[in-house]
Amino acid sequence: MSKINRVLFIAVCACLINIRCAFAEENVISDTDVNYYSSEDLNSESEDSEMERPKSAKIIKYTRKYARTIKLKWKKIKNADGYCVYRSKEKDGRYRRVATTAENTYEDKVKATDTYYYKVRTYIENENKKIYSDYSSIIKVKSKVKNKKNKLRIVEIREKLYTYKEMHNDLKLLKEKYPDYFTYKVAGKTYDGRNIYIICLGNKNADKKILAQSTIHGREYMNSAICMAQLEYYLNNWNAMYDEKFTYGDLFNRTCVYMMPMLNPDGVCISQFGANGIKNKELRNKLKGMSGISNYERWKANARGVDINRNFSNHWERTGTPGSSMYSGRKADSERETRIIKRIVNKYNFDFIISYHSMGNLVYWDIGQSGEIYTETYKLARKISKITGYPLGEQSEPEGLSYNWTILDKNIPEIIIENGYGVCPLPESEYKKTWKKNKDLITKLIR
Ligand SMILES: [Zn+2]
Repeated sequence: MSKINRVLFIAVCACLINIRCAFAEENVISDTDVNYYSSEDLNSESEDSEMERPKSAKIIKYTRKYARTIKLKWKKIKNADGYCVYRSKEKDGRYRRVATTAENTYEDKVKATDTYYYKVRTYIENENKKIYSDYSSIIKVKSKVKNKKNKLRIVEIREKLYTYKEMHNDLKLLKEKYPDYFTYKVAGKTYDGRNIYIICLGNKNADKKILAQSTIHGREYMNSAICMAQLEYYLNNWNAMYDEKFTYGDLFNRTCVYMMPMLNPDGVCISQFGANGIKNKELRNKLKGMSGISNYERWKANARGVDINRNFSNHWERTGTPGSSMYSGRKADSERETRIIKRIVNKYNFDFIISYHSMGNLVYWDIGQSGEIYTETYKLARKISKITGYPLGEQSEPEGLSYNWTILDKNIPEIIIENGYGVCPLPESEYKKTWKKNKDLITKLIR
């Protein structure tokens, strides 16, 4: 008997036992209709079985993963063959079976607006018969997704954190809300398995292409929120007039803006969650022996303790030891993150690049370049200085920085924008001020 037939068969048996159940009431019997069963019915179903009923599971956790996914988790029951998951929109209402699974987790796709109630029950199988436990207690899950989607803002910074997960979720929510104006994909994976995303905002066939990149240093993650907030702000204004001539959308059709909002997500996780932010056991154990671990918050490097912004091949020199900052790596381009950034820059050959760092409220542009690229970089830096109100910083020592490579090897102007005052990770109070200064930056640069 197929699974569906088997369930139907049991359902019909249950109906015969229990006259309360009438076809007329529901019209259809679906394999997911389960409200006929009471525990007593189930007892009588398995009366002739010598097997004991399994213990019922308890839902211990749920998370709203993205827009329309609710993830449930319950404790594993020894000897269980599987679990059935039931959902209802009312606590005492009609529960439908939404899944039968051997796992102790389930991801449920829901319509975005409601409150949902869940319960699970365990089963063991005996000669093609399922013997069920009692139902678990019911849990209530409020889907706040619609509220979030309808809110003007999806990207928010909470209690000074903006996590990799939040960025990942926000990308999905933004894509649902604005499916036509941007695309994003994974440019590569970090050592701890996180995605480095690249967003393409506007017309990918446009003549001009620029890159806005952020958070090559873990503890500077407030800039990832700034970058994502810019994305949302431009999407939200897509059809609004930017000036008397162009809409926001027009600007992005003329210049495609690529964004890499979190270049070093492993470093962000270390800064936010310490060594426990790293999932890979080997990486985590190595991390615990590195310098700078007494203060994880201040972590700048990647999960291997390499400062990616000392790992680029132009003017690379060996400095530091594996740890929170300043370690150059064993050789230039030794790190995945470095190679991913280089691959992207080589692929798209951007007209210019802006890189968000923190802190200082300064604009860095001078790495010792000369000739045409000097003038070009200087002009761009002046423009950014005017928009943000940040003064121009002094010439930097060349030491394997990202813009050593882009300016000196690739001949592409790259400007470093140091956002915020104070100590990194910056306090939440810096966010609003920084946002005001950066809100219109990209549109002003591409107009
Ligand atoms: Zn930095």
